[in-house]
Amino acid sequence: MNALTDKIAIVTGASRGIGRAIAEDLAAEGATVIINYRSNAKAAAEVVNGIVEKGGTAVAMQADVSNFDAAQQLIKNTKTTYGHIDILINNAGTTHDSLLLMMKEDAWDNVLDTNLKSVFNCCKAVARPMIRRKKGGRIINISSISGIVGQAGQTNYAASKAGMIGFSKSLAKELGSRNITVNVVAPGFVLTDLTSELDDSIVQKLRELTPLGRWGEAQEIANVVTFLASDKASYITGQTIQVDGGLAA
Ligand code: NAP
Repeated sequence: MNALTDKIAIVTGASRGIGRAIAEDLAAEGATVIINYRSNAKAAAEVVNGIVEKGGTAVAMQADVSNFDAAQQLIKNTKTTYGHIDILINNAGTTHDSLLLMMKEDAWDNVLDTNLKSVFNCCKAVARPMIRRKKGGRIINISSISGIVGQAGQTNYAASKAGMIGFSKSLAKELGSRNITVNVVAPGFVLTDLTSELDDSIVQKLRELTPLGRWGEAQEIANVVTFLASDKASYITGQTIQVDGGLAA
């Protein structure tokens, strides 16, 4: 039997990048995975098809998780379809970089809403059904090393990612007695659509600064998420695991 057989998992922002790798890895371990996306239905359908072709189970569900009602509806629809939710991965995220002096209010609001408010929205919606079911649960939030060490040009992004860490430690304390664990995975740099527009010189510099001498693969983030979602991580909560090739060491 696979590690996550019979588990129902939601991955926000799973239509591409790191979320896609997480969804595929959870499905490979036997979980039924809800592929949440905001706008790209075709990409989400491709992820579902890929999982199904490999014998897994997945379904796409559109929801803008930065919107409170839409996030509630995502959780409600999952519960209606599958009866319960075991695993929530808050992965949806965005950047809108600029130095603070140039940063528009919109760029602050959009990044904070997408990266941090979405975590509040989805955790709030999922906590009650998890508690009522009395079978525990797993919540894993995808932060970033930018939220740990900061990054010029990313006051909004770093604030949202640091906020996820404080949020997760607090929620771990609230939900621990219910056997619901809440952890954070903080990736270093992984080549996805989010990072594809970085200047070549920055890409090179970050590689040089990383002790392992290379950028990470989305699969390497997914490996840690799947572990935290499994029974093998039953005594880990309130933690932030940096998966960054040693960059922030
Ligand atoms: P990505 O390739 O840009 O993918 C972002 C995903 O989030 C897409 O599936 C997108 O869906 C979805 N999304 C965005 N806003 C959403 C919303 N409001 N509601 C629902 N879905 C939404 O990003 P990524 O690089 O894989 O990053 C994934 C996570 O890892 C993010 O939280 C990011 O901050 C974090 N991270 C990434 C890196 C890195 O180097 N890549 C490093 C550290 C942390 P649509 O396509 O449908 O819009």
